[in-house]
Amino acid sequence: MPYRGSRSGVPYADWSWNPVTGCTPISRACEHCWARGMLGRGLPGLGHDPDGPPVQVHPERLEAPRHWRSHRTVTVSFMGDWLHDDVPTPFIYECLSAMAAAPAGTRFLTLTKRPERLHRILDPMSGMREHLPIGEVRVLMERLWIGISVEDQVTMDHRLARLRVMEWPLTWISAEPLLERVDLLPAGPSEACEGLRRHVGWVVVGCERMGSNRVGRPFDPEWARALRDQCLAARADRGPRFYYKQGPSMHDPRIVEDLPELDGRQWTETPWERGAGVEC
Ligand code: SF4
Repeated sequence: MPYRGSRSGVPYADWSWNPVTGCTPISRACEHCWARGMLGRGLPGLGHDPDGPPVQVHPERLEAPRHWRSHRTVTVSFMGDWLHDDVPTPFIYECLSAMAAAPAGTRFLTLTKRPERLHRILDPMSGMREHLPIGEVRVLMERLWIGISVEDQVTMDHRLARLRVMEWPLTWISAEPLLERVDLLPAGPSEACEGLRRHVGWVVVGCERMGSNRVGRPFDPEWARALRDQCLAARADRGPRFYYKQGPSMHDPRIVEDLPELDGRQWTETPWERGAGVEC
């Protein structure tokens, strides 16, 4: 049976495609890495030998997207970091071509903690146009969501700065596990609003999940509220949407609750299902 991907375990996506698996730690968030934990348990279908090299590319999986029959929201290589230094640059461009070959309406969600490679590889004005046909670049700019993972203010500032220099239309931030309160952009209110509108389409927040369903390192729902408020303050037609993925349960703060309420409602906004905006 050829590899076609698998159902996604994250609530904002319905399909998971892993042309790259494995990773090595790079910052504080990696301490209890979910992907390395899954791979280390040798789950079937992940194609990873926990005793082998930490990063593997899977060329045989590149064919999968062109065979999907329905529109999907697809996570890309959440079982690792698709921009890890051990992933050869030509293979990253092959992954991009495979994404461009998927049926119309498919959207791909990528995440990295190594955004230094984003600009070199994916910037449409530099590396990308030299390696991919212009038709594929145009398709990708309508379906490829480039995301950074952050966990604290240091990683937010460093990684978002690299995302901001790119003129990529679809960008997002995953603050999971969030380990402290963070600000999206260290600037005055109006400058921050404009910066967020231009550079961030979506913010996802979550606490650390350990073992079966325990909250890992401390998480304060106030941190989610602060990010939610920054998204709302910057909101206009193009402002970032906010998604509160997981937090401590109100009934037992040691237990993770999926899609918890914040101020009386769940926050499950996505930029591809936009509601009415609120001006700055
Ligand atoms: S970058 Fe992501 S996948 Fe890699 S070790 Fe850190 S948390 Fe895990």
